[in-house]
Amino acid sequence: MTPSRNHTLFDQARAVIPGGVNSPVRAFGKVGGTPPFIESASGATLRDADGREYLDFVGSWGPMLLGHAHPAVIGAVVEAAQRGTSFGAPTEREVGLARRVVEMVPSIEKVRFVNSGTEATMSALRVARAATGRSGMLKYRGGYHGHADAFLVEAGSGAATLGVPDSPGVTPGTAADTRTAEYNDLDDTRRLLDDGRVACVFVEPVAGNMGCVPPAPGFLEGLRELCDATGTLLVFDEVMTGFRVAPGGAQERFGVRPDLTTLGKIVGGGLPVGAFGGRTDLMDLVAPAGPVYQAGTLSGNPLASAAGNAALAFIAEHPELYTHLEALGGQLDDGIARIRGTHGYPLTWNRVGSMASLFLTEGPVTDWPSASAGEAERFTRFFHGMLAEGIYLAPSPYEAWFLSLAHTESHMDRLLTALERTLATVFG
Ligand code: PLP
Repeated sequence: MTPSRNHTLFDQARAVIPGGVNSPVRAFGKVGGTPPFIESASGATLRDADGREYLDFVGSWGPMLLGHAHPAVIGAVVEAAQRGTSFGAPTEREVGLARRVVEMVPSIEKVRFVNSGTEATMSALRVARAATGRSGMLKYRGGYHGHADAFLVEAGSGAATLGVPDSPGVTPGTAADTRTAEYNDLDDTRRLLDDGRVACVFVEPVAGNMGCVPPAPGFLEGLRELCDATGTLLVFDEVMTGFRVAPGGAQERFGVRPDLTTLGKIVGGGLPVGAFGGRTDLMDLVAPAGPVYQAGTLSGNPLASAAGNAALAFIAEHPELYTHLEALGGQLDDGIARIRGTHGYPLTWNRVGSMASLFLTEGPVTDWPSASAGEAERFTRFFHGMLAEGIYLAPSPYEAWFLSLAHTESHMDRLLTALERTLATVFG
């Protein structure tokens, strides 16, 4: 029997990279087993080092709205690469990308590009603190905003003001500035904003890092009002939702304007790009226009800007893309409702446009306690069953599934068939 290349590569990787991966969840730690090492991808299909193909619903954790290796993006990157990969000087392409972002995202008047979602959120937080002269920050349980210290904090249950660090290396001093409220709970938020010491509320307008959890009707509008009443800035972390749930992100879809917005994933067309933007008066605080320091050797990189430009241009010129995604999503809604109705499994399906999650619990799933109520062991069996069917889902129950332009009706049928077979073994 030929040894698996995936196994060999994982062994080699673990010898030289912590845990064998460059981002923890890729290691299959929660579900066990060897992650496939991906050699290539096209459309909705991934191919691993053993030559096995998978129908992909991870989409590189969100960026691949147009599918893998989309010709418009690849063409733009190749063309850009031939002119040099980095100049550390301004380029026309960055201006083009910035203008597209400003045109597409309703609340953004000026934008600064960085290299990841994490950089975007940590920089936006700095701006919010500088603008308000306050130190505190409020986030939601189960919300993820990248791996900067201030965000790696989860309040101990009931602890209103003191954060407890979630990772060794985050200092108690940093954690103390982070307050954590329950998602979709305006009363909890109000209580934590009351003393006027919070600079900003950071929220995923559709939560995607505890699985997909939509905002309850009135939640985002209520946040806007609470922030206005307490002089707190509202930051929408649209790293995941930006350009995905609508061309202008969740703020367009739900009609609520934040003060600042963070972007990542799709804005780079699959290359490393993040961005933060908002009202001119806030963004003009950023150096060199203002005193808030923020910088990056590779920020606005020509290849990344070319990929982002190509992706956003395609999105802007093809609004029917969202109709396609909605139709695919609707097909899944119907299929999963049928499976649930036929077999009586405890399932909760949350979906907003092309992001969705299937929770293996009765539901409803509206916040972190309900999102984390499922049994880990049940998810593990589900995940490996789906992988054996050739369906690549995130190896964690706390991640969203992503649909792309490259998915088709028959892909949805394939997913539903695999789901029905796998769920029979999970609940059988
Ligand atoms: N914010 C949200 C909502 C995210 O989903 C993520 C990543 O998944 C981040 C921030 C961090 O982005 P990055 O992984 O590019 O640093």
